[in-house]
Parts: sequence; structure tokens; C-alpha cells
Amino acid sequence: TALYDCIVIGAGIQGSCTAYQLAKNQQKTLLLEQFVLPHSRGSSHGQTRVIRKTYEEDFYVQMMHESYELWAQLEREAGVELHRRTGLLVMGPENGEGFSRLKATMQRHKIPTVFLEKQEFSQHIPNVNLADGNGALIDTFAGVLYADRALRAVQVNKRMFQSCGGVIKDGEKVIDIRPGAEVTVTTDSGVYRGRSLVITAGPWANTLLTHTGLQLPLKVVKINVCYWKEKIPGTYSVGQSFPCFIAMEPKEGEYDIYGLPSNEYPGLMKVSDRRDAAFKRTGLIKAMAWWLTLWCSVSGLTCVILDYRSPKNENSVIIYSKFGPIIGKLLSQLAMGQVPSYDLSPFRIQRFQSHARSSL
Ligand SMILES: Cc1cc2nc3c(=O)[nH]c(=O)nc-3n(C[C@H](O)[C@H](O)[C@H](O)COP(=O)(O)OP(=O)(O)OC[C@H]3O[C@@H](n4cnc5c(N)ncnc54)[C@H](O)[C@@H]3O)c2cc1C
Repeated sequence: TALYDCIVIGAGIQGSCTAYQLAKNQQKTLLLEQFVLPHSRGSSHGQTRVIRKTYEEDFYVQMMHESYELWAQLEREAGVELHRRTGLLVMGPENGEGFSRLKATMQRHKIPTVFLEKQEFSQHIPNVNLADGNGALIDTFAGVLYADRALRAVQVNKRMFQSCGGVIKDGEKVIDIRPGAEVTVTTDSGVYRGRSLVITAGPWANTLLTHTGLQLPLKVVKINVCYWKEKIPGTYSVGQSFPCFIAMEPKEGEYDIYGLPSNEYPGLMKVSDRRDAAFKRTGLIKAMAWWLTLWCSVSGLTCVILDYRSPKNENSVIIYSKFGPIIGKLLSQLAMGQVPSYDLSPFRIQRFQSHARSSL
């Protein structure tokens, strides 16, 4: 069996970006995917996602600066448009902790933001009501990321992963991982050896981690993706510069509703939510899909895991995250034994120590 510098398990956006970064750095890289590509059973499919710098946490904002640059670089390399700037409208309880923290972070990082007073709101965002007691801001750099296109660009564009010498094997499910100085990965149709291993298995992370003896406190949740008929046809579309939006919940820890201007299907805005009850309440007209994704359930927070080199499994990187190319870059740095370009302490598995059932 051939020896790879790195084997990446999972060809969602994170694994694909990681594999691409590795191949670009002359690492002999194998990307393994259980389903035949393209598939719609993980977290990365679908036409669009929101991209933004509007996060409460400083470390996310810092990473997003570079993430935008890397998406732009990918656009140039692949020769396709991946990002469309629309702005992001955030509405939330004016004096609520979450909204205040967000506002403060935006100001601290000097993110181009428009803070809207109640009386000027309708001038900027016609045809939307700002609830009493809610504040509003617009992250003017945010926008729509063309997710399917991005995935296709990284995986199959001839100038990208495969032309850098990367190998993709899809329709091969990993069924065993043997750690060691060299990692041995067994799929349902082959055995592969790697000097290092990256696991980017999204909702299947814990199933795969069973083979390494590590179990993390992860919870897989379904997200409702619905399409909302425009109330006044033509006014909520990308073409009309309607922004992406987030409606923050008054209670800390409750899931926010967010959406994108109509774009994928004419006259239909895309809205995502994780609460079935809220969907029924808001009367969304057309439930198009159920997708599966993975979130960490610790303290009710959605969070990223980036970690590697546990004592028994020195050459593995484990990940759950969003942010595409920046995570790909960080994971490739970890896999190559380089010092990561950001402080990864907020992302370590160690923070779950009291929760993790780990034998590592
Ligand atoms: C509906 C929805 C809306 C979202 N909206 C946004 C948004 O607006 N903005 C944003 O930033 N993020 C958003 N996200 C989050 C973002 O899409 C995900 O964080 C991201 O796609 C995760 O990618 P991933 O590569 O980690 O996981 P996945 O895409 O799930 O990839 C994991 C891959 O691993 C493969 N795999 C698993 N087990 C094995 C095995 N044993 N052998 C081989 N392969 C295996 C799977 O088949 C899969 O292809 C959204 C997610 C969803 C679901």
C-alpha cells in the first residue's frame, strides 16, 4: 500500500479545503469520502451560506479576516465567483447581553458596521419591522457564499486539489483507523497508510473517533431549511441588495433564526432554524429540506474543535467547524507539524475534559 503524507477523512468543505492546502504544500494527500461525490447527506451541500465577521468572540472575528482573503484567493484560482457581498442585518434585544457583546466586538475590531436607530431603520431596510426594544446593525462586508460551487471548485477544478497531486477516493467508507507512527486507515474497499491523519467527518465524527478510543460530547442536530415566499415580490432579493439577516433570540442560549435574500429560487428567501415549533409559528410556506449537521452541545454553545496529537495518537487532527479555507489552512499546518498561525486554545478538546469519555 502507498504511503501518503496525510490522509484526510471526509470530503465536506473542511476536509476538502484541508486536503487542498496540504496538496498545495507538496504533501502527498489522500482524501477519503464515504459517499459518491457530490452528495447531499452531510453539512456542506446546498447552494448558499452566510459569510460574516459578525461574531461575539474575538478569535472568530480575527480568523474571519483571513478567511475572506482565502475565499477571494480560491475565487481567483478556480476562476469562479464564490462570494457575493450583500451585508448582514442583525436584529436583537437592544439591551440584551448577546446583542451588546456583538456590538462591542464589531466596534473593537473596527468592522465596517452601520448601527441603525429605530427611526432610521425603515429608510435602510424597507418592508421589515424592527420589533420594539430591538436594536439593529449591518455588517456591510457580509454576504452570500456559494457553498456547492466552492466545494466543487476545491475538489474537482482541474487547477486545484487534483492538479496538485491530490487523490480523492469517494464511495469509500472508513471502517477502521489504526494509530501509530504511521496511521493505517481501512475502508470498505482498501487499506491506506499515512504519516498523519485529519478527521473532518462532520456529523459522523464520534462514529469515526470510536476507532481512536476518543469520544467527545457532540450532539448531532437537524436544521430546518425553508424557503419563504417574498411578501412583496422582488423586494427581498440579492438583486435588490436585500441583506442576509439574523434575528437574535431574547434568551441567551436559544437558537437564532437566520436567512438569506432570495437568490437560489426566484421569489423565495432561505431561512434556517433549529426549532420546529418556531417554524410552525412563523408559518413558513415551503419546507424544502432537512439537513444534518453537527454541533457541540457543551454549555449549549456551538463551537469549533481543532485539536491534534493526543498522547496515543500523535499524528491525528480532529475537527468540527465552519469557516472553510481558514480551517483548511490551520489543519494543514497541524498535520505538517507547523506552528498554527492562530492561538488554538479556544478550540482544544481539553476544554471538554470533564465531559469527554476519552481513553486517550
Ligand atoms: C442547513 C445548514 C445551514 C448552514 N448555514 C451556515 C451559514 O449560513 N454560515 C456558515 O458559516 N455555516 C453554516 N452552516 C455550517 C457549515 O455548513 C458547516 O459547518 C460545514 O459545512 C461543515 O463542514 P464539514 O466538512 O465539517 O462537515 P460535512 O460537510 O458534514 O462533511 C463531513 C464528511 O465526512 C464524510 N464522512 C463521515 N464519515 C465518514 C467515513 N467513515 N468514511 C469516509 N467519509 C466519511 C461525510 O460523508 C461527509 O461528506 C450550515 C450548516 C447547515 C447544515
